[in-house]
Amino acid sequence: MDLSVQLGNQSCPNWFTGLKGLPQNFDLIIVGAGISGCVFAEQASRRYNLKSLIIDKRKHIGGNCYDFINRHGIRISQYGVHLFHTKFSRVWKYVNNFSDWTPYEHRVKGNIKIGAGYRMVPIPPSQDTINVLFGADVSNEIEMEEWLNSRRVPAEQPKNGEESALARSGEELYNAIFKHYTKKQWNKWPKELDASVLARIPVRTNTDDRYFTDPFQALPKEGYTKIFENMVLEDPNITIRLCIDYFDVRGDLPESNLLVFTGPIDSYYSSLGLPKLEYRSLKFEEEYHEPEDGYYQNCLQLNYPGEEVDYTRVVEYKHKPNQPKDVHRRKGTVIFKEYSCDEGEPYYPVPNPENRSLYGKYKEMAARESKVCFVGRLASYKYFNMDQAFLNALEMFDEYFSRSSSFPTH
Ligand code: UDP
Repeated sequence: MDLSVQLGNQSCPNWFTGLKGLPQNFDLIIVGAGISGCVFAEQASRRYNLKSLIIDKRKHIGGNCYDFINRHGIRISQYGVHLFHTKFSRVWKYVNNFSDWTPYEHRVKGNIKIGAGYRMVPIPPSQDTINVLFGADVSNEIEMEEWLNSRRVPAEQPKNGEESALARSGEELYNAIFKHYTKKQWNKWPKELDASVLARIPVRTNTDDRYFTDPFQALPKEGYTKIFENMVLEDPNITIRLCIDYFDVRGDLPESNLLVFTGPIDSYYSSLGLPKLEYRSLKFEEEYHEPEDGYYQNCLQLNYPGEEVDYTRVVEYKHKPNQPKDVHRRKGTVIFKEYSCDEGEPYYPVPNPENRSLYGKYKEMAARESKVCFVGRLASYKYFNMDQAFLNALEMFDEYFSRSSSFPTH
């Protein structure tokens, strides 16, 4: 195991000593060192001086936000591109405790196959998108509204992703941007998914080509991993042990007043034999290139919404402004082609009525637990963005500690 790569400049041998030598008692045992687990440990320590043990089966902290500098000197994200954006002042204030931030507004292009070639258009779709794709000639919001109105398929209360996208965009845009991308991403057609999934991508009548419109959009100056290090690393109340699978050590853990579980909720109850929840995973195909001008493509994220290729997007991290200083002078670049798949680490809950109803059963069991708290994207089975994961963890922490009598601090 090459720990130097995984840990960057940190060397923390204790992280890998298993459960040996640990105290017999912790206030919290936290399964998972991602956003939710680290928020709970940090808040428990700072607000109540409580001691936490965090375990994670991976060899790094930061969960799916984990990034590091690779052998070409480029900061990359191991689990796919992460962009922080939020409208929640509480979250923005909170994350500023752990990092300096560089303003960054994410812009995504879609590479759309037309005839023998490709055309690059803004995503979310806006005026330029339809002008380039369909030879429309709209130049203001009224004309764009008219163009869309003549194509939209009205649905008062869209029941699924297809109805919602057709109601907003009409058939041509739907086919070009949403339909096949969604099938590749979820292995389901939009009509098999909740309306909320495709509604993440608006259809704009103006020329705003930003992917997000939240008031706070930025990248951590030294990468996301540094945030987690600053949250939990130097705190004497927080003990971290990596490369430990909770299910291997369940019976051997020290005592605690609360277990915070941030893994997939169905894995916690797997012995009960209920059907498993669906999660979608990702695979990344890495390529190294030395293009003449140092860049493979002209943006960080280029989507491929068509069915002619199997990947959904190509990410070139060198475009991120929070790279080490000399990166832009280097000739080499790495790109990642992103494929979606069923097998592998769970990344995405799959929002549809079947999974929602099954999750409801797990949720009922979870509600009956007095000493276990289920927190985060996988445990709450919610398609959280990073900021929503921070907010959810902060609010769940408030909620739990405002009513719990299990802790001596109360
Ligand atoms: N989507 C699409 N075409 C695109 C981008 C997104 O159809 O070019 C749809 C697709 O269903 C996707 C969803 O919108 O799963 C949410 O996209 P987002 O970029 O928010 O996904 P994430 O970054 O979370 O993977």
